Amino acid sequence: MSETSSNTGIVYHPDYLKHYTGRNHPERAERLLAIMRRLDADGITGRVEQISPVRASKEEIGYIHEGSYIAKVEVMCSRGGGRLDLDTPLCRDSFDIAMLAAGGVVKAADTVMKKPGMKHVFALVRPPGHHATASRGMGFCIFNNIAIAAAHLKQNHGIRRILIADWDVHHGNGTQEAFLYDPSVLYCSLHQYPHYPGTGWLREVGKGDGEGYTVNIPLPPGTGDAGYLYALDNVLVPVAREFKPEFVLLSAGFDPHIDDPLASMCVTSHGFGLLMDVIRGIAEEQSKGRLVATLEGGYNLSAIADSASAVFNSLLCSEQARCEEAVEVARTAPEAVKNRITEVKSVLKHYWGSIT
Ligand SMILES: [Zn+2]
Repeated sequence: MSETSSNTGIVYHPDYLKHYTGRNHPERAERLLAIMRRLDADGITGRVEQISPVRASKEEIGYIHEGSYIAKVEVMCSRGGGRLDLDTPLCRDSFDIAMLAAGGVVKAADTVMKKPGMKHVFALVRPPGHHATASRGMGFCIFNNIAIAAAHLKQNHGIRRILIADWDVHHGNGTQEAFLYDPSVLYCSLHQYPHYPGTGWLREVGKGDGEGYTVNIPLPPGTGDAGYLYALDNVLVPVAREFKPEFVLLSAGFDPHIDDPLASMCVTSHGFGLLMDVIRGIAEEQSKGRLVATLEGGYNLSAIADSASAVFNSLLCSEQARCEEAVEVARTAPEAVKNRITEVKSVLKHYWGSIT
């Protein structure tokens, strides 16, 4: 602990390493070890509060997932494991660890709500969650950790408006599906498109009462730091100001990184710090600083370690001033990105007065 108590926390547990995916799987335990080692080496571990997760209950998992799916995962694991799809293997421990991952994000949210002075928590969990739907695990995800935390905030803390930002390189189809009809949860995803899982086109805007509360920003390969920052400045920031979230959640995948083997978006480690400056700025302005981020993807070990370090440095920085660099970098966004953002805005202006 630092001399003054930290306003930033980290959720981690060594049991997260027990979810074994096989010898050559990109979503592997070494990801968390690489990040934890870097946070130690960079002196971050001692400056943040360590928060120990507890398993989510079946009731909490059931906020988002069907009982029959939860039972299926439990039975498969009790028999030694199996596969939810081609990419998503289960070992004997996976059910328990997926419950602990969901519980980690729930604990992060509880800590921000209950502990005086605690504003930002990063839940460093695996398996990731944003592809998991009510009835199906896919894309390395078993339970939708961030969706479960959002539902928990609504049900147990009376939070009325939640922003879920998602900068993982893949579209969070599971999170979108969970809140498709729900105007109290604004889901905003920036992702490479076309790419896995195929969803997330800009005309997917939510349905029924939730129409307008799903904001998809599909981006071309090579978008880079400037393109991402341009998209945040021109879409997410104005929409969030209008929505006025009481809590900000972030699916922080590091697979948009320039060195990531599964995508081609060219964000730098330093760039992730700038993206977090913007997200943190929204939280400071709208939700009393309340912000929980959780790890989703990111598969180059040194890239995710560097990026996590940059993100924590943003969270630990109490200055607002850093946002100026983000604005400056955004000016150099590629034309292809600016054109795509114009298309996105032409759809969103029907729902948001701040988008013109
Ligand atoms: Zn991803």
